[in-house]
Amino acid sequence: MNVAKVIVDVPSFAIDQTFDYEIPDRFTHVLTPGMRVIVPFGPRKIMGFVVEITDTSSFNKLKPIEEVLDLVPVLTKELLDLGKWLAHRTLSLSIVALQVMLPQVLKSKYKKEINRLSGEVLSDELEDLFQGRDVIPFEEFEASALNYQHLKKAVDAGEVQIDYIVKSKITKKFETFVYPKKEIHLLEEALHDLSQSARKQRAIIEFFIENPQEIKQKSLLQTIGTTTSTVKALIDKGLLDTYQKETYRNPYNDDAIERTDPLPLKPEQQQAIEPILASIENNEHEVILVHGVTGSGKTEIYLQAIQEVIKKGKEAIVLVPEISLTPQMVKRFKGRFGRNVAVMHSALSAGEKFDEWRKIQRKEVQVVVGARSAIFSPFENLGIIIIDEEHETSYKQEDQPRYHARDVAIKRGKDQNFPVVLGSATPTLESYARAAKGVYKLATLTKRTNDKPLPEVITVDMRRELHAGNRTMFSRLLMEKIRDCIAKGEQIVLLLNRRGYSTFIMCRDCGHVKECPHCDIALTYHKNSHLLKCHYCSYEEEVPNVCPECSSDLIRYFGTGTQRVEESLTQLIPEARVIRMDVDTTRRKGAHEKLLREFSEHKADILLGTQMIAKGLDFENVTLVGVLTADSMLHLPDFRSSEKTFQLLTQVSGRAGRHDLPGEVIVQTYTPDHYSIELASKYNFEDFYKKEMAMRRAFRYPPYYYLALITITHENHVQVVQATQQFVQQLLMKVDPETIILGPTPSPIPRIKDRYRYQCMIKYKHEPKLRTFIQEVTNNFKEQIQKHDLQIIVDMQPYQMM
Ligand code: ADP
Ligand code: ZN
Ligand code: ZN
Repeated sequence: MNVAKVIVDVPSFAIDQTFDYEIPDRFTHVLTPGMRVIVPFGPRKIMGFVVEITDTSSFNKLKPIEEVLDLVPVLTKELLDLGKWLAHRTLSLSIVALQVMLPQVLKSKYKKEINRLSGEVLSDELEDLFQGRDVIPFEEFEASALNYQHLKKAVDAGEVQIDYIVKSKITKKFETFVYPKKEIHLLEEALHDLSQSARKQRAIIEFFIENPQEIKQKSLLQTIGTTTSTVKALIDKGLLDTYQKETYRNPYNDDAIERTDPLPLKPEQQQAIEPILASIENNEHEVILVHGVTGSGKTEIYLQAIQEVIKKGKEAIVLVPEISLTPQMVKRFKGRFGRNVAVMHSALSAGEKFDEWRKIQRKEVQVVVGARSAIFSPFENLGIIIIDEEHETSYKQEDQPRYHARDVAIKRGKDQNFPVVLGSATPTLESYARAAKGVYKLATLTKRTNDKPLPEVITVDMRRELHAGNRTMFSRLLMEKIRDCIAKGEQIVLLLNRRGYSTFIMCRDCGHVKECPHCDIALTYHKNSHLLKCHYCSYEEEVPNVCPECSSDLIRYFGTGTQRVEESLTQLIPEARVIRMDVDTTRRKGAHEKLLREFSEHKADILLGTQMIAKGLDFENVTLVGVLTADSMLHLPDFRSSEKTFQLLTQVSGRAGRHDLPGEVIVQTYTPDHYSIELASKYNFEDFYKKEMAMRRAFRYPPYYYLALITITHENHVQVVQATQQFVQQLLMKVDPETIILGPTPSPIPRIKDRYRYQCMIKYKHEPKLRTFIQEVTNNFKEQIQKHDLQIIVDMQPYQMM
């Protein structure tokens, strides 16, 4: 008998195992591991992944597989193994670990169709089915007498392909085309009749007399310099008509990107690339940390290493942080490798992402540039993985499976024998310590390729400003520099360093702060909608007119959101044109790119924003960078806060003076003597590393200790405290005496969505069985989890202490 072992889509630890199903005859020689199937499970029919095919089962009376969803496996053998590893590493469900590797489109059920690939001759049976059509619904195949093997043969031979019908408005792109409805002599007559004052209408008719064919409405309007109302007037006169045409989804216009050639490498770059090339050449896994100041030519090294990989017929994954996945970055890769590049980031629609993913699956590209999840690209002949800005915390997924892309990269590199390159101007202490110990190879780039010095950083003590009577959030020096800059026609980047920055509502009389009724966190004031919103659950309410506590009407909004900074900035310097970039102004698709484009076209003097402006941007005309509140992150309950501050200051400083004009950086702070601010202003990574390592050693944090964070949540406060206490006690009995377990303590946000949250932090040096221990202890809470809705969240590599 043919048996398939299937991981079913039931997100429960009680079900986290494979189930055996019989493979009916019609699916033999069709089904392979890595395909998705529909199987009966209890009374339901659910999706599952085939992970293995065998010929025996220890159960008799197996239920048969109902339906096969793919004729080409969506997960390769390597990815199936990787999924197993990932589930174990992150203590998450196998089904979740497999799902995370796939694009959204494959996570839900879509209707399918069969497409004939152009010019292919099909078997007689298939020709009968197609009856001259190019596309048929999949159901027609299922209803026919044809078997799956027959279809699979045609798929494997590249004669037909199965496509998913993604029914989402955003995935289909339509464009309006305009065409003349009348023949030329009639248009000429109409022109004659049109009044001389209808200048734009006349221009359009003249245009069509010259070019009597359809044209994109957008191009037409641009050519004539008019609006749709003119076209509409002519449609009403019966002279023109429009129709919608579907255009191929192409988020980046490849053809418009200019091709670039490799640059002759500078000596430092040459030194850095050598170990990478050697590792590629010898098919030997190696992790190479490229520590190079911003502008030192790291990206050029990546490009040339990838070129070697392509030459060997292999493939490359490049990870860049979501936020730096700007057209600027994409252009550099497309400029070098053209259509050989797929791009994956979250701003793409589900359909666009799927298109890109399929280019990889079908081996139409050899390079993918993408954010975190691109690490699971289904390449089968990988030659390199590059992680740019390796210190970015967005490489860690804060949801099941809680993985770090760097670990996945190194796992794939080790198993498949290729190099992993980590690049940063400010590497994590973890990576740098490994390089210092010789576990990774270290390559250092100290110079900018243009030989320009890094911009000078001036620290301004904001306490003195206050003493001098300046109550604004702009120091006198910064104001003066901004004015100078604008006068010279140069541009400015202003960073408001506030993670989770917010404007909240507070009563001036009694100090009451409006909090979310379901979460222990202040509600955020949204000026545009005039609503108070919770950023943790979707709760929102009207802004009250009087204080709900003391009925005072002195209830005002506080905090230094970017909106408020923008307001006071335009008050102080009315002539400044400001572009504000934050979560509010970039929510809409394409808004991010649009704002950056406007800034690069000098439609504004100042780019004001949160963290998202610190990275990867490269504007020729920016000569001044201002950091408004350098220390606001230092006081967060997070042992990485100094490191994050150092990284952010270094990154943002790198935005100034990247080209011919020299740059300058003003850092405003209330703690100018803090080592991370002082050393960042001197670009002194080495000393920062030493100092911070000493702190980490003293307080027993990574890289000296490993961490694991257990968070337990429940609606009942007492129950959550008790459960966490018991968890800690039971775990303490199992672990090494040297291992430290801190807690139970309330989580930094003690309640979210009406659930109380307690946590314990495990610090350990050597605990090879920790995952098993945690699983064993969690099992003791099985009943509370299943019957009483207790939740235990395990994060084996916590980055967010919240
Ligand atoms: P990083 O990634 O380290 O910030 P980039 O790769 O963006 O640095 O390089 C900074 C600038 O230097 C870019 O404009 C790039 O085109 C240029 N550049 C890189 N390598 C060279 C080289 N070998 N010769 C001349 N210019 C270079
Ligand atoms: Zn009050
Ligand atoms: Zn809430």
